[in-house]
Amino acid sequence: MSEKTTDLIHHPYQPPAEFAAPQPGVFKASTVIFPNVATMHTRDWRNKSGYTYGLHGTPTTFMLEERLCMLEGGLQCVLASSGLSAIALVDMALLKTGDEVLIPDNVYGPSKALAEGELLAWGISHQLYDAMSPADLASKISSKTRLVWLEAPGSVSMEFPDLAEMVRICRTRGLICALDNTWGAGLAFNAFDMDAQGGVGVDISVQALTKYPSGGGDVLMGSIITRDEALHARIQGTHMRMGVGVGANDAETVLRSLPSIALRYAAHDRTGRELARWFQSRPEIAQVLHPALEDSPGHAHWKAVCRTGQAAGLFSVVFHERYSVAQVEHFCDRLKLFKLGYSWGGPVSLVIPYNMASMRGPTWPHKGMLVRFSIGLEAVADLQADLAQALDEA
Ligand SMILES: *Cc1c(COP(=O)(O)O)cnc(C)c1O
Repeated sequence: MSEKTTDLIHHPYQPPAEFAAPQPGVFKASTVIFPNVATMHTRDWRNKSGYTYGLHGTPTTFMLEERLCMLEGGLQCVLASSGLSAIALVDMALLKTGDEVLIPDNVYGPSKALAEGELLAWGISHQLYDAMSPADLASKISSKTRLVWLEAPGSVSMEFPDLAEMVRICRTRGLICALDNTWGAGLAFNAFDMDAQGGVGVDISVQALTKYPSGGGDVLMGSIITRDEALHARIQGTHMRMGVGVGANDAETVLRSLPSIALRYAAHDRTGRELARWFQSRPEIAQVLHPALEDSPGHAHWKAVCRTGQAAGLFSVVFHERYSVAQVEHFCDRLKLFKLGYSWGGPVSLVIPYNMASMRGPTWPHKGMLVRFSIGLEAVADLQADLAQALDEA
């Protein structure tokens, strides 16, 4: 008879064969146990024919990968520990010393910081192109260019670029194009087929699952989705060699949130649009930036690509110049339901003031302060009342 500790560890556990439930189980492992040496030698985690090591995937993470492919219309998926680490993995997998990457001028800030930091230190150069000018993108392509990043709309400034035209340029010039698809979340448009005529799609779609797919403000995770086996293999190889993995409990949290993502996305969108239109009627505001509003930059491109008419719950407002930085910051501080925070996509509405002139330089067209809102799942009347009381105070 063995010791109790041994019996507890070697309890004859059988996975439940006849147990069906709405949610899949959580499978956690650092090590995976093989039945014999021959299996150890032959199993291949890369083609998902089996499990070899916790870092390379468990039934829970494989299932999340499959469902994200379903959401985005992709064929292969790699999970990363955050949205930013997904972006970094794409850069690391596809760029080497002497190469150049093109990045839109309104890109998610930390993505640009990565290009200015590690990429530059590794001898990889970058150029910023005007996100609203396919001609500017085309003019910046050189024999060194290997990768083009796209983002729609701009993270803070909300301009919606001519995605289909930019993808066509990358195709013609034989360049890989990767889209930061966090805003679209696989719902507002199909990144792999974005033209009504068909056949225009990005090579890589990256998402911060941290945002709408998680939906709770409590998980950090990213995904890299492709439709090309060879391209996927390059990213998967870097992912493995860099030792990137995600925890099964976090993967399960995202799996649990995915069934409601379309409903939540629609609710964030509905409330966001209602508040954006309300802001248009306020005398304090010079412009409301939301791709679904007709006078917002890139509205026609949004309409052409987001054929379902959907948008996320994000928008920005530009205050009239007469409002000082201090007054606009005071407005943000006065808000009660809107919290100050960066990572959106959860149930709580968020607000951040930005000084765009210092962020974007002389090309930024507005003088007043910009405030970016991420609309949560609260009742629209309560959010509007909160905005109104804080505006009156400002
Ligand atoms: C939040 C965000 C990211 C990064 O996601 P993290 O998981 O926070 O690293 C990348 N791109 C966009 C557009 C984002 O909004």
